[in-house]
Amino acid sequence: MAQHLDAEVIVVGGGPAGASTACALAREGVDVLVLDRARFPRDKVCAEYLSPQASRILADMGVLEEIERSDPAHLAGMMVRAPNGKTAEGRFAANHGFRGFRDKGLAIRRTILDEIVLRGARSAGARVEESVRVTDLARNGSARVSGVNTIAPDGQPRTLRARYVVGADGLRSVIGRRLGLVKTSRIWPRRIALVTHYRNVQGVTDIGEMHVDYDGYFGIVDVGHGKMNVAVVIPMARAREIGESKTEFFERWIASRPHLAERFAGAERITPVRATGPFATASRRAWSPGAALVGDAADFFDPFTGEGIYAALRGGELLAPYLIEALGRTPADEGKLLSGYDEARKREFGGKWKLERIVGMAIAYPYFMNNAAKLLSQRKDMADLLVGVAGDFIPPSVVLSPRFLFTLFISPAFRT
Ligand SMILES: Cc1cc2nc3c(=O)[nH]c(=O)nc-3n(C[C@H](O)[C@H](O)[C@H](O)COP(=O)(O)OP(=O)(O)OC[C@H]3O[C@@H](n4cnc5c(N)ncnc54)[C@H](O)[C@@H]3O)c2cc1C
Repeated sequence: MAQHLDAEVIVVGGGPAGASTACALAREGVDVLVLDRARFPRDKVCAEYLSPQASRILADMGVLEEIERSDPAHLAGMMVRAPNGKTAEGRFAANHGFRGFRDKGLAIRRTILDEIVLRGARSAGARVEESVRVTDLARNGSARVSGVNTIAPDGQPRTLRARYVVGADGLRSVIGRRLGLVKTSRIWPRRIALVTHYRNVQGVTDIGEMHVDYDGYFGIVDVGHGKMNVAVVIPMARAREIGESKTEFFERWIASRPHLAERFAGAERITPVRATGPFATASRRAWSPGAALVGDAADFFDPFTGEGIYAALRGGELLAPYLIEALGRTPADEGKLLSGYDEARKREFGGKWKLERIVGMAIAYPYFMNNAAKLLSQRKDMADLLVGVAGDFIPPSVVLSPRFLFTLFISPAFRT
């Protein structure tokens, strides 16, 4: 007897990855149900920057106009300050022959962004249930996933059935862990982050800032409405230094660096300091019979890359056609089909994964970061290329050539 289904596809998590997946599926007529344990608007620990190319996906989802109406900040480029004090700046609009969907990135509170993006999935026809926590996968006696076990808003356990379950449930994905697909570190070292918001930090412009130091890195970005997102990221090995109070650690970090302290002299912290991590995780593969992973659940990008939200949105776009195809076939065809999703992810993100490892090395070994900043402060053309890659509109291969990397990290040591 055919089993009752609550949806063709259940998407666990209504963040950017879940909303993008649900939107793409619902538009093609798939009956999709999104479950999120939170009630939106909900916050998310994040530096809240979106690459210029993320706007292409938001426009396709039909939500970019509403995001613009919410008055976000716009970013013209990025700046990096190395431990030796050298700074380098790159812009999205530059003379390299590449052009993004637009010449600016977005910076916006996640409370605003995620609610609008999830509404986009609803408008496309997805059903969304909030305050529903997924506790486990349901398997129906076989290895194949057949649904999820949940705790409903009234506290009652409930099993929901579907042909496919998508784990879009973020960094510590229950779905990824239950599928046994999560492996530990691809990037190194494992890091933790502290994030808060301030008003009245001096000298904040439309250039996002990353200040790399010997013991971690620090980011500042204007997120609109007079608020600045401020983040500290440190290696897990230093977590003990945070001690009893995250706020005191954060304030100590700023006070101990004169170039930051003077800019924060008249600033006011307006949200609690929130912590997250460790966050160097990835999945071995992004699917299993009856299930697939997307966004942070599949693979977490180091915050330095500013890649996570774009990768989450893009991941949903990549996954949907494979699921639609699989829904029209028998489970026997599934392995070949969903391996195609893994291949598509490698084609899309492979270059970024390599770059992430290189950036991780440059942060861990300041010799390389100092060399790079020394060179980039004089080679704006190279800085613009790197910022274009981070902006998702220049292929990573452009900056991954041995020649580019040698010029960036090694050659400055031989220059006067
Ligand atoms: C410190 C820090 C700074 C960052 N800065 C940036 C940046 O500037 N730019 C950028 O692009 N990326 C950044 N990122 C990464 C970015 O935040 C993530 O990549 C992005 O949020 C991934 O989206 P997602 O939809 O996969 O997951 P999430 O946004 O985490 O959404 C997951 C959703 O799943 C829900 N959920 C989780 N578990 C369950 C469950 N059991 N049952 C039901 N629902 C569940 C959650 O409530 C949540 O709504 C940063 C990350 C960190 C940690």
